Amino acid sequence: MSVKKISFKIGDLTIGGDSPILIQTMCNTSTNDIEGSVKQCEDVIAQGADLVRLTTQGVREVNSLAEIKSILRGKGINTPLVADVHFSSKVAIAAASVAEKVRINPGNFAKEHSQALSEFDIFISECKKYGTAVRIGINHGSLGERITNLYGNTPKGMMMAALEWMDMCIERDFYNVVFSLKASNTVVMVEAYRLLMSEMVKRELIFPIHLGVTEAGCGDTGRMKSAVGIATLLNEGIGDTIRVSLTEDPVNEIIAGKMIVEKCAKIRTENRLNNYVKCVDNQIYNANSWEELIISISCDYSSLLLDKKIDDFKFKASINGKELSEKEINDIKDDLLQAARRRFTKPEYISCPGCGRTLYNLQKSVEDVKKATAHLKGVTIAIMGCIVNGPGEMADADYGYVGEGGGKVTLYRQKEVVARSVPEDEAVEMLLKIIESDKK
Ligand code: SF4
Repeated sequence: MSVKKISFKIGDLTIGGDSPILIQTMCNTSTNDIEGSVKQCEDVIAQGADLVRLTTQGVREVNSLAEIKSILRGKGINTPLVADVHFSSKVAIAAASVAEKVRINPGNFAKEHSQALSEFDIFISECKKYGTAVRIGINHGSLGERITNLYGNTPKGMMMAALEWMDMCIERDFYNVVFSLKASNTVVMVEAYRLLMSEMVKRELIFPIHLGVTEAGCGDTGRMKSAVGIATLLNEGIGDTIRVSLTEDPVNEIIAGKMIVEKCAKIRTENRLNNYVKCVDNQIYNANSWEELIISISCDYSSLLLDKKIDDFKFKASINGKELSEKEINDIKDDLLQAARRRFTKPEYISCPGCGRTLYNLQKSVEDVKKATAHLKGVTIAIMGCIVNGPGEMADADYGYVGEGGGKVTLYRQKEVVARSVPEDEAVEMLLKIIESDKK
């Protein structure tokens, strides 16, 4: 069987095939804030971002993106820019002439499949004209209604959605496409990508894959969830670009992303040299930082935990020669077992990284909600940056806290609105009351 791996250029970079894994992030500035966005692009590029995505919810933002691009190019910075489009085919078509790559979420590209087809035709012909690449970004939380009715909100549904759009690209003789199948649940995410890869191998045509655990949150748990999902797949040879999605400064996403890619390269080399997959239990780590340590451990144990090959694990660790306490070791174990969805000892938080659509202080809200709900073991709470995409992307959260802008928040019980326009300074308390009253 001769499997063809597709690769193509995005700006000066090559994506796919046997090219190096590219690390990307997304600005959380408003794209219309030209100065702020240019500065953030420069910051993440200085840290090593290979591609930078910016939100383009309207044609005005596409024009701003053009301006940002021209300023960066004027400074000699050639990093490819990606336009993030959700709902509007008109915006995607406009962005195709500006960005090096356009990310669309087909789940909300168009309600009617026939309408989507004609819009897609125009979009693809624009991409061909300008040499623009595309990412078809399927998200577990926003699979279209048609796909959900056919296959459920499942990894298979995600894979089938990707295949439909893949076929549409092939029919149009368009191959500059990357696919992503993100979920905040690491088990769902890994299964969806594995299904897609095995289907592409069967078809003998492998498109580049972008990996990410979406709405992974922040801090240790955000890093560990991302590392578990991304490393499992990278270690199987799946993935050409990655994004570690954190509700933090985008610079931090690049730092964590580089650590995951470097660690996985080491794991793959060791496995190749030893010609077997190393048994990693009882590992001894000596890391340079806490972050490096938790990412390294997560990458080592990810697939063993996800695939239920082990139920628990032991390790010893020190940071710059200082040994970790038993409590620190147990905290890492608890977080990792939860990231791999094997044992839940804490609440589960889903939070988006925020982007140009965010109209409130998302990072502070995440901290406040976490502080107030830390005792609610087993409850899943989503804290999302915008009212347009947030509710759809919350996937299977028990409760949602979604910023409306203007200092107001909407609270959800699963997908149902429980309170609208709650002042921000009252919202955490109200959320807690709702959860407590449900528990009673
Ligand atoms: S949910 Fe978050 S990341 Fe997604 S569009 Fe809204 S603010 Fe941006």
